[in-house]
Amino acid sequence: MHTLKIKDLIVEIDNKVILNDFNLEIKSGEIHAIMGPNGTGKSTLSRVIMGDSNYKIKKGKILFDDKLLNDLTTDERARLGIFLGLQMPTSIEGVTNADFLRTAMHIKEGNNFNLMHLIKDINKNCEDLKMDKDMIHRSINSGFSGGERKKNEILQMKLLKPSIVILDEIDSGLDVDSLKIVGENVMDYYNNSDSGILLITHYQRLLDYIKPDFVHIIMNGNIIKSGDSSLVKEIEEKGYENIYNEINN
Ligand code: ADP
Ligand code: MG
Repeated sequence: MHTLKIKDLIVEIDNKVILNDFNLEIKSGEIHAIMGPNGTGKSTLSRVIMGDSNYKIKKGKILFDDKLLNDLTTDERARLGIFLGLQMPTSIEGVTNADFLRTAMHIKEGNNFNLMHLIKDINKNCEDLKMDKDMIHRSINSGFSGGERKKNEILQMKLLKPSIVILDEIDSGLDVDSLKIVGENVMDYYNNSDSGILLITHYQRLLDYIKPDFVHIIMNGNIIKSGDSSLVKEIEEKGYENIYNEINN
């Protein structure tokens, strides 16, 4: 049982407040969806949880099982079991997917690391994700399409087996078939692990596959409304602005 807790968080970039007194708690076994218009701080939230040093925490705490994360490096956070699937995964020339995955898994598993087991696990997950096995031996994301990059993030998630998973617009750039595959693979991981998931999206269609327990609307760096999955329908019908106006009038 793990908990990621974000408490009274104020985050700035270039002296501009992006997250403004933000609060959220995610526990093992819970799926939270954060939805909101562009530019409201969704990616900022994911990056600040992971320790991107471009974002300055002015106030507040990020806690994982009561351990303060604020001053930990990104790799220290990853080792604790926090994973971020990026909105725009970068490519890294000269480092193959295979090298990267082997190194990461070796660090994670230490003396228990077993190369044959990893190879089997990679092959199985490539099949599940309908990824071409060639991709494993190419430089990370090099020449990958948007959809292939997203699948590669999910491959990393399934191998690293994190306890808190943050997926930043994992649905963007995916065709309908890939969306289904990615959605089903995330659900499969969730059902077979004790993980908590934070799903950032602004498309309802991903939620056909990944069913959130909690839905939050973020606007201007703050959660303006939370609810169960029925909130998705309300967003679809009314739009973010109308919901915002209802609350603030
Ligand atoms: P979202 O993911 O909700 O679309 P972001 O968190 O990416 O929004 O961005 C929130 C705001 O912060 C935007 O106004 C964006 O321009 C600004 N911002 C994010 N990252 C940077 C950055 N590295 N430099 C300057 N401004 C940034
Ligand atoms: Mg974003």
